[in-house]
Amino acid sequence: MTQTRFIVVTGGVLSGLGKGITTSSIGRLLKASGLSVTAVKIDPYVNCDAGTMNPFEHGEVFVLEDGGEVDLDLGNYERFLDTNIPKDNNLTTGKVYRSVIEKERQGEYLGKTVQIVPHVTEEIRERVEEAAAKANADVCLVEVGGTVGDMESMPFLEGLRQLSREHGRDNVVFVHTTLVPILAPVGEQKTKPTQHSVKELKATGIEPDMIVCRCEEPLAESTREKISHFCDVDTDAVVGAPDVDTKYQVPLLIHDQGVDDWLEERLDLDRDEPDLDPWKRFLDGVQNPTHDVEIAIVGKYTELEDAYMSITEAFNHAGSELSTDVGIRWVDSDELTLEDLEEADDPDGILVPGGFGARGTQGKINAIRHAREEKIPFLGICYGFQLAVVEFARNVLGLEDATSKELMEERGIDSENPVIDLLPEQRSVDAKGGTMRLGATPVRIDAGTTAHELYGTELVLERHRHRYEVNPRYHDDLIDHGLTFSGCDSTGLRMEILEHEDHPFFLGSQFHPEFKSRPGDPAPLFRGLVQATLKADDGV
Ligand code: GLN
Repeated sequence: MTQTRFIVVTGGVLSGLGKGITTSSIGRLLKASGLSVTAVKIDPYVNCDAGTMNPFEHGEVFVLEDGGEVDLDLGNYERFLDTNIPKDNNLTTGKVYRSVIEKERQGEYLGKTVQIVPHVTEEIRERVEEAAAKANADVCLVEVGGTVGDMESMPFLEGLRQLSREHGRDNVVFVHTTLVPILAPVGEQKTKPTQHSVKELKATGIEPDMIVCRCEEPLAESTREKISHFCDVDTDAVVGAPDVDTKYQVPLLIHDQGVDDWLEERLDLDRDEPDLDPWKRFLDGVQNPTHDVEIAIVGKYTELEDAYMSITEAFNHAGSELSTDVGIRWVDSDELTLEDLEEADDPDGILVPGGFGARGTQGKINAIRHAREEKIPFLGICYGFQLAVVEFARNVLGLEDATSKELMEERGIDSENPVIDLLPEQRSVDAKGGTMRLGATPVRIDAGTTAHELYGTELVLERHRHRYEVNPRYHDDLIDHGLTFSGCDSTGLRMEILEHEDHPFFLGSQFHPEFKSRPGDPAPLFRGLVQATLKADDGV
């Protein structure tokens, strides 16, 4: 049995300090040192998972290989650690209470008064331990969402305090992330917010071992010493996290401050010097591109970039490999007309992402038509794939009322041609949480197609999150009119990838390729889109 070490990351002062990136970066350094690393995200909200939450409030819902619908930070862990994370690694208040209440109903606590301490807190500790054990992890990172002092995070902090007692203080490190503001007229780095937030943390019984300070500028030596002195941590364990151009610099930035050396000593880790070369190569591709292109993302959550985080990440991965800066033009699909599209300068490529519901669909269909007719490289994902079928049915097959059942149901409209229909197994499903077709399933790709050229193989596993699909009734008609379905599921009945032959690059996928894209290993369909925009730029 591995003696797992735990690194718990909390946040103070305010939210949005980049706790997720700190956690992921520490993980990257330790993984690059040859250790087996996993990461757990705690989200203190009451939802059982992120699947029912609006991306506009919380950013994208990330989908895992096992079908878990989770917080976007788990996407960062997967990308930085280059590993698949299971859904049990996302703990929420809802998940924890649900299981405690179920156990109570089963009589597992018979005779006892079930209480937050110790029953809920023990459930939390056990779930963290189980996640570490399942991954056979040398190191398990645990990020606590929210800010220390929030009422809803209290049971989690208590559970983690108990974890450190149980495993011994030598095997657990608490990292606290804070903000060090600079007061404008004086230009001085202020430590008081950090001191207060550490006080708040200590009130929960947790003593921080390391403090990561977000600051506009590198931490002054005097600031470091002051924080060390007032907060009772080693000077070496006060780490500066100044603003950087890209979050991919953070692993190197904290390595340069000796974070991994300090952790090695403190946790008695048996590890090698980290091999950071692959990461440096990736970073170099991001920072020193020799080409640039602009791709329009046409969606309805364009005001919050986090709502499409994995998509912009996938562009960064593809861009780094192709030495290309992929600029994003955010286009709100609400009320986007064909005239708007014709009047604007064409972007080098267009991507229509996943989505739900009627709002903004006509705008997306207009963008797809524009991409098809003007031969602009195009990628449609999930809803974008489905709407590419609707557009083709309307404008090429001449089925003017072609639509998706999703819209018919929501808007109460009639149509003779539901070219996108509910998946048969969804017909009996009423509940909304965790009930879609979710997670990775095999996709068969036909040889001789663009998709095959990009993937270089005939069988891939890709992640899904949908209730609707291409209506099998229309397969033949669509194919007869020139649409190619180059990928399908293992039964051959469910369409997974579409493409047009007489177009430089027009592809759609029922699955979400963005969730499996990684630094140094970009999603093939994103690589294909960026490559196509480069070719179009060169006039090839
Ligand atoms: N709303 C569509 C469906 O449920 C597409 C979902 C998505 O884009 N993730 O099938």
